[in-house]
Formats: sequence, C-alpha cells, structure tokens
Amino acid sequence: MSDQTFYSGLQQKLDTLRSDGLFKPERVLASRQGAEVVAQDGRTLINMCANNYLGLSGEPETEQAAAAALEKYGYGLSSVRFICGTQTVHKELEAALSAFLGTEDTILYAAAFDANGGVFEPLFDENDAIISDALNHASIIDGVRLCKAARYRYANNDMADLEKQLIAATEAGKRHKIIVTDGVFSMDGTIAQLDKIVALAEQYGALTMIDECHASGFMGATGRGTHEHCGVIGKIDIITGTLGKALGGAMGGFTSGKKEVIETLRQKSRPYLFSNTLAPMIAGASLAVLERISKSTELRDRLMDNTAYFRAEIERLGFTIKPGTHPVVPVMLFDAPIAQQFAARMFELGVLLSGFFYPVVPMGQARVRVQLSAAHTREQLDIVLKAFEQAGRELGIIKQQ
Ligand SMILES: *Cc1c(COP(=O)(O)O)cnc(C)c1O
Repeated sequence: MSDQTFYSGLQQKLDTLRSDGLFKPERVLASRQGAEVVAQDGRTLINMCANNYLGLSGEPETEQAAAAALEKYGYGLSSVRFICGTQTVHKELEAALSAFLGTEDTILYAAAFDANGGVFEPLFDENDAIISDALNHASIIDGVRLCKAARYRYANNDMADLEKQLIAATEAGKRHKIIVTDGVFSMDGTIAQLDKIVALAEQYGALTMIDECHASGFMGATGRGTHEHCGVIGKIDIITGTLGKALGGAMGGFTSGKKEVIETLRQKSRPYLFSNTLAPMIAGASLAVLERISKSTELRDRLMDNTAYFRAEIERLGFTIKPGTHPVVPVMLFDAPIAQQFAARMFELGVLLSGFFYPVVPMGQARVRVQLSAAHTREQLDIVLKAFEQAGRELGIIKQQ
C-alpha cells in the first residue's frame, strides 16, 4: 500500500473512460432473467438485450433440471476434472453435445472464453498458421496470442482476403493451417459463409474452426448451429461454444471435434487442466436443454418467427437495420450521442436494450442492438415497436406522421 501513484494512475484512466463516454456501468436487476425483468428501482422492463435466445434462462424447466442434478450430484466437486471432478453427468453432457453438433467428442470448460483460450496452444506451434477473421471474439484473439503459430488476419467475412491469407500461409511453407471464425458475429448478426470457407479450406488443405456462441441451439433447421445453417455439418474440424447463452444461460463452454483433438485438449489444455470442473447442476440442466431441443424445434421456430416479425416491423416504421435473418438486430442510428439518448429514452419507456458506438463498432456506425428471444410474446414485441416509434419520432430518426 506504499505506491500511491499506482492508484492515482488507475483513477485517472477511469476518469478518462467516463469523460470519453466509454465507461460501462452495470445494470442491476432485482429479478430473474427473462423477457421481462425488474430493475433495481422496481420498474418492470421488457428485456431486449439478453443472449437468452431460446428463453431458457430463468425458466422453470431449466431450473428443475438444475435442482435435480444438484440433489443427485451435489453442489460442486472441489477438483479439476482429472483428479476427482468427473461425474457421470459430465460424460453424459459431453456425449450429448457431440451427438447434437455431429462431432466425435466434446470437452467441457468453465466458459467458452476458456475453451477458446485453451484450444490453440496444445494443437499448433511455430510451424503452423492461424488464419483468423478480423472481428473474431476477444477470447479467440487471446487464445491465438497464447500460441506460437504464425498469425494471419482477414477482413471480416471477406472471402477474397481469406484466400489471400491462405496463399500467403501456403507460400510461407506452414505445416498446418486453420481458418478460425465466429459462426455468427454478435455486433452485426452477420453469419459466416461457412460453405465458402469449407470450400477454400478444401482447396488449400486447411483446417476449420467456428465459435458457435451466438448460434448453438437455434441456427439451422434443427438448431445445431451455423454449420447446419450453411449445410456443412461434419465438415468443420473444431467447434467451440457456450452453455451461457441459448443453451440454458448459466455458464460453461465446450470444444467439440475429432477424438484425437479432444483427447489432446484433455491432456494439455491449460484452462481445463488447471481449473475447477463445471458445476454438476449446470451440466445436468444443459443436458436437459439439449434433450428438449433435440426432441422439438418449437423454441427455435418461435425465436425465428419473432425475429422475422421484428425485422419486418422495425423496417416498416422507417428504421434502418443491418439486413439478415439472425435474432441479433442492429438498429442503426449512426451517431453516438443519438444512440445513447435513444437507449436512455427506451429505458424510460420500459425497454431494456444497449447502445454501441466507437470503438466497439466502427466510427459513424453507432446503433442500438436488439436481441430477440423465443420467450418474447407478440404483445411484448408490439410494445417494444411502439416505444421505438415514439423514441424515433422524438429524436427525429423517423418521420413525424
Ligand atoms: C459470449 C461469447 C464467448 C464467451 O462465452 P462465455 O461462455 O461467456 O465465456 C466467446 N465467443 C463468442 C463469440 C461469444 O459471443
């Protein structure tokens, strides 16, 4: 406690974040997660900013499955997996994820952040090349940093640039090449062109990896993910994903792929070897979620109906959105202060959503991001659309009638 300049330096940086409008305050909820949440001041808000795509967070069936696993397997293991932290429920969940994703084997992590952080270093070294989309998630970027492989970056979703980088890595004589992309990019709802990526990978002898955090459970006709959506099930080498978004919403992550890959990760992946096992109640609830969504596509169908309805209606009101089909709907406001004012006004009108501006998104691309859920009723979406209309008129974003 003798170095006061350390603390004053931190305070200065925090003050700068605040004055630059980049400080992230935490919204405090006084309720469970859901289509409606209760704010700390007791107001009920319609929630349009959770990754609760299938509506399973805070939902009784998920909780009952968690409670049953809690009862049967206890609260926790106080161990990493390989010492005494593996229960039947963990093995069952790994098998269920493999079956769901169409892979050979799966390894669980405490978070997808850990899955991405621990996937590259055990599998690749300085002889290899990682070819990564420029907008990939922070956890992929950190994972790549921990690995000695050569790094190649291609412009977001740009297949010509990807091919250029594949050629560069080939000419550099790299032994193994792996193309890495988010299946869906969370800021824009952009879906990676996996059919083209797989074709390029085949042409240049590269491996492929996708991060399915914004896709597992609902993308594709039966919700298996972006690889199903793009018709390339069985053609992706490595799939990472989270249990903390659509698949229940508590926490936890996974890496899935060929058995040699998963076995190697179990032996060498540091966030797996040196971190506690996933709580059994989360494993049990995730297993129940997978069983439920493997039996029926009802939830993902409702999510996609809600998405199509909202996308059509918000455009009809005169707002500009990033085109697409994903339940992430960026409503473009372009100007950062307007985006902030808009989100604040929507909050007053009882709608929770988040504004994004530079440097999180490119300069001049400020927006509010709406995320649809299967849990939203048509009635709730109509209330949200009315609020958009009102705030949009007040702030001069859409025309007065
Ligand atoms: C949310 C997210 C993660 C992190 O997932 P956690 O399980 O919360 O650690 C990783 N990658 C992408 C693309 C994400 O959206």
